[in-house]
Parts: sequence; structure tokens; C-alpha cells
Amino acid sequence: ILTLAIETSCDETSAAVVRNGREVLSNVISSQIDLHKKFGGVVPEVASRKHVENVNLVIQESLDVAGIKLKEIDQIGVTYGPGLVGALLVGVSAAKALAYALKVPLIGVNHIEGHICANYIEDKTLTPPFLCLIVSGGHSHLVHVKDYGIYEVLGKTRDDAVGEAFDKVARAMGLGYPGGPLIDGLAQKGDPEAIKFPRVYLEADSFDFSFSGIKSAVLNYLNGERQKGNKISLENVAAGFQQAVTEVLVHKTIEGAKQKKTDTIVLAGGVAANSGLRKLLTEEGKKQGLRVKYPSLTLCTDNAAMIGCAAYYDSLGGHRADLYLNAVPNLKLGEKYVRFSQE
Ligand code: ATP
Ligand code: MG
Ligand code: FE
Repeated sequence: ILTLAIETSCDETSAAVVRNGREVLSNVISSQIDLHKKFGGVVPEVASRKHVENVNLVIQESLDVAGIKLKEIDQIGVTYGPGLVGALLVGVSAAKALAYALKVPLIGVNHIEGHICANYIEDKTLTPPFLCLIVSGGHSHLVHVKDYGIYEVLGKTRDDAVGEAFDKVARAMGLGYPGGPLIDGLAQKGDPEAIKFPRVYLEADSFDFSFSGIKSAVLNYLNGERQKGNKISLENVAAGFQQAVTEVLVHKTIEGAKQKKTDTIVLAGGVAANSGLRKLLTEEGKKQGLRVKYPSLTLCTDNAAMIGCAAYYDSLGGHRADLYLNAVPNLKLGEKYVRFSQE
């Protein structure tokens, strides 16, 4: 089965050709980062317009790289949420047009499920059940993946997503956008113990997260030091912040794995690229006899290959969309598209 997948939920225009869910024949990603950099974040309207310009070119390139003709494609998978509504609509419209013209099934994919599925591409032997920590620009979820497409959400953030906290702290530190990779780089040169930021664990039995407190603590620290005229070590701030965040994430993830009696933990989402998080989770997991897996860097951040993988398992599970598919900006994990017609 050849899936052509399209992803336009945020600021990456991406298209991929994926064979049988896990074999990536192409994964073309056109990032708009440079375009949004000067605004310090993604400007939704600018993103939508850029997707319109790019989407057909990116799709064609994904076919060219794969060496596949459009008429060989068996199904179209597309992200229909969560994400920016205008951005999502571009991909959804392109996918509907292609599915209609080629007379092939259309599958509406949940972007967050896509992030989880990146791990199936990375490790061809990975099968559910496992515990997944999803940490991205807009989401932070601890999820028990019971089977393909079957999720039990153990906890999620009550305020900021982890990636959002990284980006906001980076902005306050005067770094560029996106902040996550920049903080990661600085943190490697800093002392994680030099500045002690709060670890927010919430109630003892809760798997929820909260990151707005630590974000404020970093902002207060920066303002305080600036007022006192002290020289700030950005390396130490980055290292201290990253350490505080990762300790909480790792602790809860390992507790979740114990509670669910699973021996495998996987990371997903843009922040899964974070070197400190990968390292600490792997170390702590090892102590508990747990396997820890994460996708390679390109598969962590937004890409269409992961969407093609999710589409494959969705279609095996009988989940298909139709031409009434619409963008759903706040789509929840595990929510499936309800077909309008039953042809
Ligand atoms: P969502 O997937 O929740 O809809 P998104 O698609 O915008 O949000 P992703 O592309 O999954 O987010 O991830 C982008 C986020 O990952 C950004 O917040 C970015 O700062 C963060 N990020 C990327 N690399 C790293 C890193 N090395 N360390 C920390 N954060 C990182
Ligand atoms: Mg992005
Ligand atoms: Fe994402």
C-alpha cells in the first residue's frame, strides 16, 4: 500500500510517500521558520499563504524523490487537526482534490497521533503496548498506547505545552525562534545546578503537568538579575531551566510506565529532539529496566512521513474520511472522523 501524506498544520509544508506504513520513500519538508523568525513566532495568516504557494510543489517533489507516479498512489492521508485552521485547510483541500481525482480513499489523520507514529518508522520492530510521552510545541501528553490508534491519556499539561515554555523562555532570554533547539545548545555548555528553578509535580498521584510556573520563575530571575545589573549566564539559565523541566517529565513518565506495567517508553513531538530529555530518560529508564526509544531529529518535528504512517494504521482500522472532511483545530487525541456519507 502506497500512501501519499500531506502535513500543513503549522509552519512546515510537508509531503511524503510511505509504503505499508513504515517504509519512507520520501519525506519532503519545506520549513517556514525563516519567514516567521522576524516575528518571533508563527503568524497564522502568513503560514496559510505560504502553504498555498508551496503545497503543490512539495507534493510533486515527494513523488519525484520517491520515484512514484501519482496514479500508483493507493490512498491519501492528511492532517486535519489539531493545528492552525487556515494552515490545516490548505493540506485538507489539496488532499481532497487528489483523492477525488485519483478515486482513492482519503484518510484524515490526527497530528498528535502522527507524532507518536514517528516511532514506528524509526523502529520497525516497535509494536504497542507502550507508554508515550508526547512533548511538542502545542501539546504535552503522557499516553498509554494500548494498540494502534487506541490511547489512554494518563495526564496532560494544565497550562503551557513544553515546547511553548521553551520558546517563551528563549524569547525572554533574547534568543531567536524557535527557542527549543537554541536552549538545548546553550544548556550543553551550562551548569544545570547553578540556578535552581522549581520542579512542579502537582498532586502526588497526578500525571498532569504544569509549566507556566517555571516559565515565570525564569522570567523573574532574568528581570531580577537585570535590575541588579548582574551579568547573566545564559548557559546556566538554559541548563537550569532544561534540567527542571526534564526531571519532572522523566519522573512522571517512569511512574506511568510502572503503573501501566509496560517495559517500553517512547518519546514523541518536537521536544523529543531535546538532548537533555533523551539522555535523562534513557538513563533513568535503564535503572528501572525499561527500554527508551525516540525518533531521529527530522522525525521528531513536523513531517508528513509520520502522517503517512498514522494514515496506514487508521485505514487498517477501518477509519476513512470522505470529501466532507474539514479542518478541526482542536482535535483531541483518539477522536476519529465520523463519515458524513456511507458510500
Ligand atoms: P503540535 O505538534 O503540538 O501541534 P508543533 O507541530 O508546532 O506543535 P512540533 O513541530 O512538534 O510542534 O515541535 C516544535 C517544538 O519543538 C517547538 O516548540 C520547538 O522549540 C521544540 N523543539 C525542537 N527542538 C527542540 C530541542 N532540541 N529542545 C527543546 N525543544 C525543541
Ligand atoms: Mg513547526
Ligand atoms: Fe507537531
